[in-house]
Amino acid sequence: MTSLDRLITLFSKLPGIGKKSATRIAYFILKSDAAVAKGLADAMIDLKQTIRPCRVCGNYSEQDICGVCSDRRRDQSVICVVEQPQDVAVLEASHEYNGLYHVLNGVLAPLDGVGPEQLNIAKLVSRVRNGEVAEIILATNPTVEGDTTALYIHTLFKESQVRVSRLALGLPVGGDLEYADKLTLARSLRGRTNF
Ligand SMILES: [Zn+2]
Repeated sequence: MTSLDRLITLFSKLPGIGKKSATRIAYFILKSDAAVAKGLADAMIDLKQTIRPCRVCGNYSEQDICGVCSDRRRDQSVICVVEQPQDVAVLEASHEYNGLYHVLNGVLAPLDGVGPEQLNIAKLVSRVRNGEVAEIILATNPTVEGDTTALYIHTLFKESQVRVSRLALGLPVGGDLEYADKLTLARSLRGRTNF
């Protein structure tokens, strides 16, 4: 395989990039200065070396503990549970939420071998047990897996004093949090319902 073919194959594996786009990008890099290729390669390596999961919530962070978790001005009594780190970015951009987050890193999918142990759930339980948490907002996506995961987490806190609510209102069924606009998110947050 030539180095060009290799790059095209690698790019085709990226989300949203088909063979055609992969080929176009690879030729673009080939035509560009060596500095462009080096800049891209360095940025990708830096990303993997400097960003890691926050020790508390699992969100991406350049520090051991992320900016949200270490900000005492944020409401420590609410934890919003999301599937992926990019969901945190979406909710932050809405400027409607001032609590904390917890990133599951996926959803329950027994057929694909993803059970509770594969997700960042045990840490959520200990956070709630040891913290001053009064409410958990389940903001998993309104998909079958997202709903199943929310239901599972809800059962874990059924006997506790913690209020468990679900953020799904207004979000299109099957739609990802990632693609929701700010207004929809704001409405979903304000209109969240008890589980
Ligand atoms: Zn954090």
